Amino acid sequence: MSRNILFLKSVEKKLKKADVLSPSIEAEEMVRHFGQLDRVQLFTDQKEISGPAKLSIAWALQKRRHGVPLAYLLGQASFLGRSFQVTPDVLIPRPETERLIEEVLCVLKAHYRSRTPEILDLGTGSGCVAASLTLEWPACRMTALDASEKALAVARKNFKILGLRQKIQTVKCALFGAFRNKSALWDIIVSNPPYVPARGWSKLSREVRREPRLALDGGLDGLDLIDAILDEAPKYLKRDGWLLLEIGKGQSKKILKKWAGRKEYASLVFAKDLNGIERILIARLDRKGTWTN
Ligand code: GLN
Repeated sequence: MSRNILFLKSVEKKLKKADVLSPSIEAEEMVRHFGQLDRVQLFTDQKEISGPAKLSIAWALQKRRHGVPLAYLLGQASFLGRSFQVTPDVLIPRPETERLIEEVLCVLKAHYRSRTPEILDLGTGSGCVAASLTLEWPACRMTALDASEKALAVARKNFKILGLRQKIQTVKCALFGAFRNKSALWDIIVSNPPYVPARGWSKLSREVRREPRLALDGGLDGLDLIDAILDEAPKYLKRDGWLLLEIGKGQSKKILKKWAGRKEYASLVFAKDLNGIERILIARLDRKGTWTN
């Protein structure tokens, strides 16, 4: 067996011992990242893994053993095929959130082809939502907001890397704090808010518990921020505006129960994720005060 593959196998074995969920995938990512190898170089021994790279891998294995997520060790994560820088100050982008982008794009295609929509990404974190939408729909004006200055620094870095620094406005505030005296600002508000129920916190994997609590913990039943956004968004949306939120498993029924009787929104529907879970809430602002779900 080639030297690189022998080394790769030894990394995989250590990851398996550390109870990592996908040891072979993580081993390859780790070795390729720190060794700066493409797949061919790795599997054909075209390039050897350097001494310093091996030291970095040993360091990463040690951290991984203690539950630090791989994305934080690599400093990057993939979202919709693009690489985003991440630090422990931001949530690691997840596939569920890719569904959020798809649903916003559906709304854009159906309703905003001939306009330049103003979009707000509430709680931007790494900036993956704001950046992906701006890249997929360049004819938009995007504002990315976060309560954490450290998260905003990561988002700005990602916007810069992707050539979007001038295109996306960043704002530091909690919820709509910086816009209190204004109204009807946006066509679309999009958010992946914290929605993990606080009582379920201890049941989360050790990896997830390494992520910022601010970005995950949605209060007792996980709905604190979702309710607050549903409550406040109508003031900041333009006529016929849209609110799209990522939500947690089992929350759609509770949201319907609470909000279906209210007249702020003309419709409230849910899109499912790949596991069949109602994951994306799509709400349209009401014009006439009628409810049509
Ligand atoms: N999907 C994340 C998780 O359960 C939660 C993300 C969030 O709270 N916005 O790991």
